Amino acid sequence: MSDTVITMPDGSKWSPSTSVDVIQCSECGDVVDTEEEAQAYADGGNCPHCGNPWVTKRSTTISVTSPAKISGGTM
Ligand SMILES: [Zn+2]
Repeated sequence: MSDTVITMPDGSKWSPSTSVDVIQCSECGDVVDTEEEAQAYADGGNCPHCGNPWVTKRSTTISVTSPAKISGGTM
């Protein structure tokens, strides 16, 4: 995880609001919500979407469009 801090000219500090770990099927790209769900598919053998043997594919999506404020400032 990144601990990037954005400092504004007025001295306030912000962090990028969202960093989402995406767990999906390597075959069809079907996304699951939780680690547990991916594990359940891995144990069960097949992706419920495409029916192929489940292979977990991970990627991280970071959104900086809506920063979360940490301290200071009046923006
Ligand atoms: Zn699939």
